[in-house]
Amino acid sequence: MISFEMPKPLVQTRTVVETVAVNMMRPISREMDENEHEIPWAYIQFMHTATKALGSSSMAPEDTEKEKKKDPEKEKRPPINYQRLMVMVEMLSWGDAGIYLCTPGGMLGAAAVSAAGTPDQKKRFLSRFKGKEPVFDAMSMTEPQAGSDTSAIRTTAVLDEKTNEWILNGEKIFVTAGNKALVDSKGFIVVWASLDLEAGRAGIRSFVIEADTPGCKVTKFEEKLGIRASDTVSIVMQDCRIPFENILGSPTIEKSTKGYKGAMETFDATRPIVAASALGVARAALEFVLEKLEAEGVTIRYNLPRQKMSNLEREIIDLETQLRQAWLLTIKALWMADNHQSNGMVASMSKVKAGKVATVITQKAVEIMGPLGYSQEFLLEKWFRDAKINDIFEGTGQINLLVVARNILGYRGSQLR
Ligand SMILES: Cc1cc2nc3c(=O)[nH]c(=O)nc-3n(C[C@H](O)[C@H](O)[C@H](O)COP(=O)(O)OP(=O)(O)OC[C@H]3O[C@@H](n4cnc5c(N)ncnc54)[C@H](O)[C@@H]3O)c2cc1C
Repeated sequence: MISFEMPKPLVQTRTVVETVAVNMMRPISREMDENEHEIPWAYIQFMHTATKALGSSSMAPEDTEKEKKKDPEKEKRPPINYQRLMVMVEMLSWGDAGIYLCTPGGMLGAAAVSAAGTPDQKKRFLSRFKGKEPVFDAMSMTEPQAGSDTSAIRTTAVLDEKTNEWILNGEKIFVTAGNKALVDSKGFIVVWASLDLEAGRAGIRSFVIEADTPGCKVTKFEEKLGIRASDTVSIVMQDCRIPFENILGSPTIEKSTKGYKGAMETFDATRPIVAASALGVARAALEFVLEKLEAEGVTIRYNLPRQKMSNLEREIIDLETQLRQAWLLTIKALWMADNHQSNGMVASMSKVKAGKVATVITQKAVEIMGPLGYSQEFLLEKWFRDAKINDIFEGTGQINLLVVARNILGYRGSQLR
């Protein structure tokens, strides 16, 4: 029989993280929302110390092979690093999605290094998360003229053969945690740039720019609808020189888009993680509705035939079903990642589904609660604002649907866009 129960280590992780969500995030949720650009240092310091104490440098899953070498016993257990990350992210986002995005340690940038970097690069860039001070990372693809269509990227990387350095020029916008990575800590940012603008996607590679690199500046802070605790910035690179070794993947332009695909593999891990965050916000909203209804003496009669239920009961059950569907797709995508299976399609499916479900559930929750949902007395209106981003970043819902369709139909990007 198939069991959908979570394994014990995941349940334990969930319990530990729940204490953080309840005691450290929820109490400052409103304050952080109202004071955009303030940094939740107490949470950051706590998470930095806690993840180190747990033997992990960051939220980025450890290299499984390395882990196995450290502890042969672990070979006997099924790999669950990505699934554990999902449980953590879901619970932290249930606490507060904006504050979760301020968690120190390897996030999107580390995922890019893990996906496309050499063992030496992984060591060089990821070891900094184990230091005394909390460190952040970021990943930036988006430019004023290039969002969904990454072939429109205009940031360039030119090799100076005399000094063996890359010279980067261009502008990136909407960089999550960009300021924390470059200014507030000794972190790094992974930047997508073109080796040859004529080569289209085949010329695109990712490069690591470390904090304090001359020529790379944060130029603007966005003011946002939701996830306001998280910094979202613009970055300008002006003759920004980085070592040759900071390119992730091959420095030569192949006729194929192999190098570009390597960079795209980052999404196989990050899209389900965004889905997990969406699930946390959606669950927070749904639980809030159920608690308020129960306080009013309204309970959901799950065992009634559908035609005998009230409309409200049917709506709630439909929302719970959608949340479960999205959860199952997300855990499947990350189970596949843990087991080194190609998960690109399921990763996109989970992101489409969870992004949509979070938007629908939070909107419906506000609708059901009426003024309680609209009032700032409760966090529901905030969750409604926080949810939408999950349908936008890491590929919009439409773009992820395209990825799924291409996979099912066997089309290339150029054949279905
Ligand atoms: C708060 C926030 C944080 C972000 N963080 C980061 C980050 O850390 N790093 C980073 O690189 N980017 C980040 N982004 C940028 C985000 O990834 C982009 O906004 C997103 O990829 C969409 O790109 P775009 O804004 O240029 O919209 P566009 O690509 O112009 O799309 C506009 C609309 O058209 C739709 N659309 C576009 N092409 C198609 C198509 N072929 N078929 C159907 N529909 C289509 C889109 O789905 C969307 O609804 C962030 C954005 C926000 C708002």
